[in-house]
Amino acid sequence: MSASQSFWSPVVAGLKPYVPGEQPKIDRLVKLNTNENPYPASPRVVQAITAAAQQGLQLYPDPESTALREVIARHHGMAADQVFVGNGSDEVLAHAFFAFFQQHKPLLMPDISYSFYQVYCRLYGISAEQVPLDDNMVIRVEDYRRAQTVAGVVIANPNAPTGRALPLADVEQLLQGQPGQVVLVDEAYVDFGGESAIQLIDRYPNLLVVQTLSKSRSLAGLRVGFAAGARHLIDALERVKNSFNSYPLDRLAIAGAIAAYEDVDYFEQTRRAVMQSRESLAAQLTALGFEVLPSATNFLFTRHPRHDAALLAQRLRAQGILVRHFRLPRIEQYLRISIGTPAQCEALVAALRPLLAA
Ligand code: PMP
Repeated sequence: MSASQSFWSPVVAGLKPYVPGEQPKIDRLVKLNTNENPYPASPRVVQAITAAAQQGLQLYPDPESTALREVIARHHGMAADQVFVGNGSDEVLAHAFFAFFQQHKPLLMPDISYSFYQVYCRLYGISAEQVPLDDNMVIRVEDYRRAQTVAGVVIANPNAPTGRALPLADVEQLLQGQPGQVVLVDEAYVDFGGESAIQLIDRYPNLLVVQTLSKSRSLAGLRVGFAAGARHLIDALERVKNSFNSYPLDRLAIAGAIAAYEDVDYFEQTRRAVMQSRESLAAQLTALGFEVLPSATNFLFTRHPRHDAALLAQRLRAQGILVRHFRLPRIEQYLRISIGTPAQCEALVAALRPLLAA
């Protein structure tokens, strides 16, 4: 321990914080490493943010973000008090872990899944029990039936970084297997081909669904996410939020997020463009000899049987193309490639060809 770390609490000294994907300062790069949307936010978002700024920023925003919660609720067919909003879904997830999973019992989660879940467990002293995916990298719901002995379950659906989605019937099995525990379904990528469990919140008092505007609504830079669930779950999240930061969403984020929801045509157009590029990139990678997992997201999880993933990522980087490589057991030979514009996907394929021939 260095001298300066002697001031740290044992919890902070023991943390292994999430390591975000590279956010380069040079904008000439083809950035396919952190699953952002390749298209900018709707022009209506920019107009709404400008108008909100012109109205003045000297006053605090609405601590309840009521206008945004109403818009989200209307869009998904629920009531505004079944919605909780936060500063990106990472913050919503953090509050949910604190609110529901600190119970001296293990929290079940897939191995492999979004690595931030483990970070929250360490932060809040929650023990994580990782349940391996099956041989096809699919979540096997039978392995989660452990009512009363666990604090709850968290899954990403579609999962990250595998990109694979579970049908809603399987999510229902998870919910029925843990009637007294919260099942958190993180749907960060659902708009690219998954089935949302939001339609189940009235039937399952233990279901909390978390979504983000970072991916399908091109707003990673604005930081808006939300949770949907029964009122008693939303109340718990409000209690945590109000003990932490009563104003997580600023006036610009609230205005921009509302405008993003209102521009339905733009959302549909960009979402479809990403899904089309995904299918075309998957076909091109397959033709180059890659094994590509089926994806219901805006990224592909892929490996090449004859080429080392770390080396490929490094060589692509040298040509200004960023993809994600995880140095984790079982997936160290995989690359996660975010779907770019058609031009970005072409640049990737053009860079890969000579690398694979070498
Ligand atoms: N969940 C999953 C599965 C993700 O991949 C991400 C993005 N890295 C998030 C949540 C967080 O997204 P945000 O905080 O931008 O809403």
